[in-house]
Amino acid sequence: MNKIDNSIKFFSEAKKHLPGGVNSPVRAFKNIEGNPIFFKKAKGAYVFDADDNAYIDYIGSWGPMIMGHSHPTIIKAISKQLELGTSYGAPTKIESETAELIKQCFPSIEKIRMVNSGTEATMSAIRLARGFTKRNKIIKFDGCYHGHVDSLLIKAGSGISTFGLPDSPGVPPQLAKQTLSCEFNNQEDFLRVFEKVKDDLAAVIIEPIAGNMGFIPSEKSFLKLIRNKTKENKSLLIFDEVMTGLRVSLGGAQEIYKIQPDLTTLGKVIGGGLPVGAFGGRAEIMNHLAPDGPVYQAGTLSGNPLAMAAGSALIKLLISKNPYDALENKAKKLLKEMKTIFYANNISISTNQIGGMFGFFFSKELPQNLKDVVKSNDMYFKNFLNACIRNGIYFAPSKFEAGFISTKHTNKEIKNTIDIVKKILRKGI
Ligand SMILES: *Cc1c(COP(=O)(O)O)cnc(C)c1O
Repeated sequence: MNKIDNSIKFFSEAKKHLPGGVNSPVRAFKNIEGNPIFFKKAKGAYVFDADDNAYIDYIGSWGPMIMGHSHPTIIKAISKQLELGTSYGAPTKIESETAELIKQCFPSIEKIRMVNSGTEATMSAIRLARGFTKRNKIIKFDGCYHGHVDSLLIKAGSGISTFGLPDSPGVPPQLAKQTLSCEFNNQEDFLRVFEKVKDDLAAVIIEPIAGNMGFIPSEKSFLKLIRNKTKENKSLLIFDEVMTGLRVSLGGAQEIYKIQPDLTTLGKVIGGGLPVGAFGGRAEIMNHLAPDGPVYQAGTLSGNPLAMAAGSALIKLLISKNPYDALENKAKKLLKEMKTIFYANNISISTNQIGGMFGFFFSKELPQNLKDVVKSNDMYFKNFLNACIRNGIYFAPSKFEAGFISTKHTNKEIKNTIDIVKKILRKGI
């Protein structure tokens, strides 16, 4: 068992200064009633905490560390830019270079705008959709999280579900009323709501592969229906690929399903570990943005050169290595072995993976929507997660989050993980 005295001390100090001791809620470990681990460095597949314990990391900063932590190519790219200045508040060549790399991966993106977070990307994409269509209503899906945008904090996943808030105080009811939430993977529910609001429907936004209610891919027929209905109705379809873009495959979920959205939001991986978001899509729509068009959107640090340097270096690596099949096979192997161990202990577990993303649930059947995830066993999750963390395996500390594997997770890390899971189950959870 790892000793975490410093993490305990730092957390109690942090609580004096930061609400809940953290700058993003899921980090507080409330869902598993544990003490958050404070980190001080990371390399390859490992993160190291303030007490010098090493952990095999299955979060990878929620996506960006797909090639492992502190990758030398990315460090070099950042260092090179660092010497030249950290921000100019003016255009640079590297912004177009990064845009071109992203467009190479996402044929549905003709023009793109860089922002500073995934939240900013979805917020701006729905403003653009409303400005372009001159309509107001948005449809989203229960359990899909699109950042903490007012209009989208309606039955959102991860943090919100973790804390049992159906939506958030501070969101005006008049605004919340413009957003309708349907059940994920439920065609009838979508059609019912769609028919009700279609005349004023600006956009449908969805995580085509959800990573904020655990890991739940859409059914292809469900996505196809949404694509057809939005097209027919001249409403925009927004794929929120902040998590899945360049993570499940180079071209994200849209490449896997072969379905093109009108707008795509990106973040996480495209910043290479620095704060970046982006939204892009058909030029006809993107041209409605200021300064070409009337829909206002801006950012002092947008397209920041350090972030563009890190992001473009990572995207180039991913294009040249295309590691997604290898990542999926590794995730499969890990989950298959975990399943065997849990079943031998009479504990039901279901698993799924695509590319470098995965999920496991303490339920017999694989969840298809938020309700199914809510029903999965909380006690097993909490006990298993705490045991993993105290034994050097860092899985996401909430059953509403996905798992992430990197190219630096070799057979050795997988085997060590399995050995630790075996050890945990011998003691019982
Ligand atoms: C993380 C995430 C966001 C929000 O991105 P931030 O950078 O945290 O603001 C939006 N959508 C999805 C699907 C995400 O996973």
